[in-house]
Amino acid sequence: MNNPKRTELSEIGEFGLIDRLKEFFPAKSSKIIKSIGDDAAVTKTAENAIQFISMDLLMEGVHFDLAYTPLKHLGYKSVAVNVSDIAAMNGTASHIVVGIALSNRFSVEAIEELYMGMKLACEAYSIDLVGGDTTSSRSGLGISVTVVGEGREEEAAYRSGAQINDLICVTGDLGAAFMGLQVLEREKQVYLANPDMQPELLDKEYIVQRQLRPEARVDVIKSFKTLGLKPSAMIDISDGLASELLHICKESNVGAYIYEDKLPIDPMTFDTAREFELDPLTVMLNGGEDYELLFTIAQSDYEKVRNHPDISVIGYIKSADEGVHIYTKGDHLVPVTAQGWNHFKS
Ligand code: ADP
Ligand code: MG
Repeated sequence: MNNPKRTELSEIGEFGLIDRLKEFFPAKSSKIIKSIGDDAAVTKTAENAIQFISMDLLMEGVHFDLAYTPLKHLGYKSVAVNVSDIAAMNGTASHIVVGIALSNRFSVEAIEELYMGMKLACEAYSIDLVGGDTTSSRSGLGISVTVVGEGREEEAAYRSGAQINDLICVTGDLGAAFMGLQVLEREKQVYLANPDMQPELLDKEYIVQRQLRPEARVDVIKSFKTLGLKPSAMIDISDGLASELLHICKESNVGAYIYEDKLPIDPMTFDTAREFELDPLTVMLNGGEDYELLFTIAQSDYEKVRNHPDISVIGYIKSADEGVHIYTKGDHLVPVTAQGWNHFKS
């Protein structure tokens, strides 16, 4: 009653909310190097040694649909997306704790299937699952994974480190996970209309797999070490290239130019976008959940990435007053805006 003002979550969005919450918690301990606002928080543990911590929450009906998500893949994905946040700091994930909220709709075997996926991911990324929490749920399955990682202070890459003239790079290809989701949703509708129909997913295997079972680009982080390369800034692509580039630019107080013809897209993503009458560029910019890495490097490091098969140079960093723009294939300079996932808008 003392506070009649009511702000709807949809007015400020997820990132607006996080910015507001951040005000409540200025870091108290001098050990905290990075608090709210990056892919993981960073604390100093010993001379030169740092620890990363990050968590992700996956909710049924928001992040996954059990109609087409095998539990094993879901388990794998819930670990991979967390490992990805540590990779995005140029760190190494070491262990996780896992919280699950369950209804009695799940059998013991079903839960074991979920955990088999987590086990596979733990093996793939050489990490340990060391604990968690289990509770009941009245509204679907919830999975919360917290990951701890380690690294060296001078190697950590933050969203805030991009410098004017740095090159902007991205790993792998973009938009595939989003198009995979469109295919899965379409097949679900077909199935609901006629349960005798078999899903037509065979020729969409790559993009469907990118949606259901993404990988963290730990391989690229390892190759940075081999190449003697340290990105000046880095983030993983969970919400879409546009949204993540804007995060780097905001945190680094810079602008950016990227080029449509440099953006990596798999032919299957391109063709499927066309099939769905979607603009492949929009899909590359705004499709989420690819878990590729977006990073910047000094121009003097160009030779190190030039022949890397999994790295594309897509543009360069400009001053903040030049804004964040994309040169389209038609030679138009268009502002980049974030249309990433906003869970509070539907
Ligand atoms: P990512 O997409 O890399 O997982 P998020 O956009 O979820 O990152 O989060 C950005 C930052 O905000 C991170 O530092 C994260 O720890 C912090 N954050 C997100 N949600 C909350 C919350 N409810 N309370 C405090 N910090 C949060
Ligand atoms: Mg992230």
